[in-house]
Amino acid sequence: MPRPEGQPRSGNPGARPNRPLRTLTVVRTERLTPAMIRVLLTGPDLDELPELALTDHYVKLRFGDVTRTYTIRSLDRETRELAIDFVIHGDEGLAGPWAASAQPGDTITFAGPGGGWAPSADADAHVLVGDESALPAIAAALDRLKATRRDARVDVFLEVAGLAEQQELPATAATTVTWIHRAPGDGYGEALTRAVIDADLPDGRIEAFVHGNADMVKPLRRHLFNERGIPRDQVSISGYWRTGMNEDGWQSSKREFNAQMEAEQDARV
Ligand SMILES: Cc1cc2nc3c(=O)[nH]c(=O)nc-3n(C[C@H](O)[C@H](O)[C@H](O)COP(=O)(O)OP(=O)(O)OC[C@H]3O[C@@H](n4cnc5c(N)ncnc54)[C@H](O)[C@@H]3O)c2cc1C
Repeated sequence: MPRPEGQPRSGNPGARPNRPLRTLTVVRTERLTPAMIRVLLTGPDLDELPELALTDHYVKLRFGDVTRTYTIRSLDRETRELAIDFVIHGDEGLAGPWAASAQPGDTITFAGPGGGWAPSADADAHVLVGDESALPAIAAALDRLKATRRDARVDVFLEVAGLAEQQELPATAATTVTWIHRAPGDGYGEALTRAVIDADLPDGRIEAFVHGNADMVKPLRRHLFNERGIPRDQVSISGYWRTGMNEDGWQSSKREFNAQMEAEQDARV
């Protein structure tokens, strides 16, 4: 008999924990910038979601048998709306085009949330680095810092296509946002990498969150760990997507990519 979706395989001790599938309905969409759309979702399944203790909570949206990973930008229990901000990156792919044409009443099914990070209370300064795909997680972290550590020093570096892609962000009293525009001919993350390497980062115990295109992860990981000497447990860094690969291709090659990068960089320490 076919296994119901979301149920674990029986008798497989290594199987992932059971992640129930939930379905929500599109309430409306908001065009945040030319290339970013917010989709607001609601429905009875919202009440089943656990409290969101982290700021990088993500869900695995289902398109047939295929999944796409997206950050929960916010969950408002009063209005009963969950927001996901989608980068619109052309006609290719599943999730981006779905969001671009989403209409009230459309439904989407997902597993999750998963997640592993929130800004810690004992850092002297927070450094948040990303491209558009990590902007929702960075904005969620800023929301949290603003609410819990009003005076926290936060240095944000965000790479976007240009001025029209800059967004109003939540901020603490000591937040600096550096917007980096991709130059023609630059790959995703190249200008961002240069900006972080050249930046005057704060002193003290820095905590860093660095996510976006996989190509920037290698040089930034080397820079933060090997050159700046930031302890590994104070840095959350990984590729959210990779140029030229869809999510299936990237997720299936990610383990090898990470292992190779770590072996190369650890050999130099
Ligand atoms: C934990 C996590 C959280 C994430 N949160 C978000 C989020 O909140 N919002 C968000 O927009 N993305 C987010 N992403 C990234 C998103 O999962 C990928 O961008 C995904 O590939 C998009 O799926 P798709 O079906 O639109 O395109 P795919 O079918 O996966 O890819 C089609 C083509 O588009 C390219 N492509 C994919 N993403 C981008 C992009 N951002 N810019 C330019 N080209 C791209 C691919 O390289 C490929 O060539 C997150 C990823 C992870 C791992």
